[in-house]
Amino acid sequence: MDNCLFCRIVAGEIPSTKVYEDEYCYAFRDINPQAPTHVLVVPKQHVANIGEANQLSNEALRACIEAIAKIAAQEGLTGGYRVISNCGPDACQSVPHLHFHILGGRQMADQMA
Ligand code: AMP
Repeated sequence: MDNCLFCRIVAGEIPSTKVYEDEYCYAFRDINPQAPTHVLVVPKQHVANIGEANQLSNEALRACIEAIAKIAAQEGLTGGYRVISNCGPDACQSVPHLHFHILGGRQMADQMA
């Protein structure tokens, strides 16, 4: 998608701080971190949100999910971490390219929303 922010980040057209990459997914630091560690994991293939995850191959979906634990280990999140994927307007999704937020490095609130 030519005008998708995260597609352009994956393509290297917009700078990002890369944390992890494999054949199917790319992960980078959130520009407005909400926790000491705040990383976004995105599939390289454009899908709008988790509601379209069935458009990804099994390999791509699995790679995104497995990347989360790899990144958490890489970031030293031994105490745990939170994974969030906002889907649509009620969830305040602001970038319509599927992404998983990994938040860690501090105690999370016990309320999720
Ligand atoms: P969401 O609101 O769930 O769609 O999350 C989008 C996230 O993308 C927000 O946490 C933003 O801070 C983050 N973001 C927006 N633009 C950039 C960028 N250029 N580089 C890194 N993160 C970004």
